[in-house]
Amino acid sequence: MNLDSSPIAAIATAPGRGGIGVVRASGKNLQALIKALFGETGLKPRHATYIPFKQADGSIIDQGIAIWFKGPHSYTGEDVLELQGHGGPIVLQILLARVLEAGEDLGLRLAEPGEFTRRAYLNDKLDLAQAEAVADLIDASTEAAAKSASQSLSGAFSKTVNTLVDSVTNLRMLVEATLDFPEEEIDFLEKSNARGQLKGIVDALEQVFKQAAQGALLREGLNVVLVGQPNVGKSSLLNALAGNDVAIVTPIAGTTRDKVTETIQIEGIPLNIIDTAGIRAPDEAVDVVERIGIERTWGEVGKADVILHLLDADHGPSRADENITAAFPAGVPVLRIWNKIDLSGHKPGVDQMDDATHIYLSAHEHIGIDLLRKELLRIAGWQQTGESLYLARERHLIALKNAGAHLERAGQHAAQDDQSLDLFAEELRLAQVQLSSITGAFSSDDLLGVIFSRFCIGK
Ligand code: GDP
Ligand code: ZN
Repeated sequence: MNLDSSPIAAIATAPGRGGIGVVRASGKNLQALIKALFGETGLKPRHATYIPFKQADGSIIDQGIAIWFKGPHSYTGEDVLELQGHGGPIVLQILLARVLEAGEDLGLRLAEPGEFTRRAYLNDKLDLAQAEAVADLIDASTEAAAKSASQSLSGAFSKTVNTLVDSVTNLRMLVEATLDFPEEEIDFLEKSNARGQLKGIVDALEQVFKQAAQGALLREGLNVVLVGQPNVGKSSLLNALAGNDVAIVTPIAGTTRDKVTETIQIEGIPLNIIDTAGIRAPDEAVDVVERIGIERTWGEVGKADVILHLLDADHGPSRADENITAAFPAGVPVLRIWNKIDLSGHKPGVDQMDDATHIYLSAHEHIGIDLLRKELLRIAGWQQTGESLYLARERHLIALKNAGAHLERAGQHAAQDDQSLDLFAEELRLAQVQLSSITGAFSSDDLLGVIFSRFCIGK
């Protein structure tokens, strides 16, 4: 990967055909590029100019809008040139090639993936969490996910995290100042209400973690695997949950030959549902081809967040079902779904029995599907709250968790029978490093700046 600071250019719009396509360039100084492309008069910053895009020999490639954002007032913080032309893959390729040629003397090169946003981060246009939110907004698979990504992008998550960092920093600053004056250490914890402050931070952190963990659900969704004997109603259940006909439902056993994945959403949470081919216990395969298929299916089962084991409520479980149950990986929650209650006469409902959750429903008649939806949300850990959610990434959750662990240890060092202020301060520092890693803003110089600017050490 080439990540030097030379100017970069790329097609910014999605591949394929569209009404508009954009070629974008970014660099510290793009004046020469603009002149090479549009002549001596150049472009007026932040004005849309309708202008022909020409080859070096004067022939016209396309007509479109050119906008020059003079740094630092741009997405990347550098000069940015945007050429909006017609959105055809070939015409955009030609335009990009022309831009690269015109910028050759400047060292203009093709951008690496994410490099525009990386520069925005390096130039302090966005912090790390916001830069990540750009990608999350683009990748969002549901409306709810898009909404919380745009929240994070606007800086709401970063602001919350920064507030936590500030509280930890303030407390640490207090402690460290005391460490330099040993006579003041005595009773410091009491006088400064350090324990109370710490508790406040721990509570706030817990709240942020909750909002981030819920947001992470919106981002990652839940991987659900549907298993069960041929003809038990897996495809019908998938259809009932999805609300449209994605899988083939037929009365002939074994029609679902390969896996079908469908992403549906329940209250905005994406559920990636995999409808497996009629599964058998791993050692029951009859031939090589079947064994490969079965191994693949068990591979999916092992990666699932929840297994939906479909059983026939009318016929009861078969030997094969019992073998499948015995082979389920430990630790993955299983919902036993008794389908076809319209035939068996069971009432729709949820039952806890033998350490398992049993749900009675009819996929075909759409009876009891809501019970299953609710159960899936419960397993996902979804709690509907009025609070805004942060579309957090695993990295953020880990950092929040680690910070929580350091704060807990800080609390232990602040206990009556311990009171090791230096260790207390050290744990606060570690918590601060973890939290700061979320926005990528940590530097110990920052901390020193805060200490000296806000605290009168010579008092
Ligand atoms: P799969 O092989 O497990 O995917 O099963 P399908 O979804 O293809 O269903 C097999 C057959 O059972 C089809 O004829 C469905 O219409 C039927 N079926 C599925 N669910 C129900 C149900 O709840 N009640 C009844 N009576 N039939 C069902
Ligand atoms: Zn099927």
